Amino acid sequence: MIERCPCCNAQLKQATTCPRCRADLNDIILVEQAAQYYLSDAITAMLNNDVEKTSLAINQSLKLKKTEMGLVVREFFIQQQNKLILDLLTQTQLLEAKRRLYDLRSIISYSKELQQLNLFTDYLLLRKKY
Ligand SMILES: [Zn+2]
Repeated sequence: MIERCPCCNAQLKQATTCPRCRADLNDIILVEQAAQYYLSDAITAMLNNDVEKTSLAINQSLKLKKTEMGLVVREFFIQQQNKLILDLLTQTQLLEAKRRLYDLRSIISYSKELQQLNLFTDYLLLRKKY
C-alpha cells in the first residue's frame, strides 16, 4: 500500500485519488498489488522447490516494484541455490547441477556466485569427456 502521493507527497490513508493534488493513483495501486501477487507466487514456488517458476516470479515482482522484501527473497533464494548446487557438485552430480542452473537462467545475472558455479560446472562437464 502506498502511504504518500508520488506527485505531491501528501499522506493518502487508503485513498485512490490524492486528497491534495487529485492525482489518480489506481494504476500505481494495481501495479503494487501485482508485484505483491508475484512475490507470494515466488515464495509458494520456492516452497514447492520449483526453481524456474521461483526465478521468473521474483523477477516479475521486482520489475513491477523493487521492494525490500522482494530483494530479500531474491537474495535468500540465490544463497539457497548456491548451496544446493555446491552440494550437487561435491557429489559429482554434474548434470543435475547443470539442469538446476538452467532453471535459474532468468536470475543468474543477479549473482556472481551462480555465474561462477555455472562456468565451473561447464568446465567439470567438459573435463569429464576426456
Ligand atoms: Zn498528491
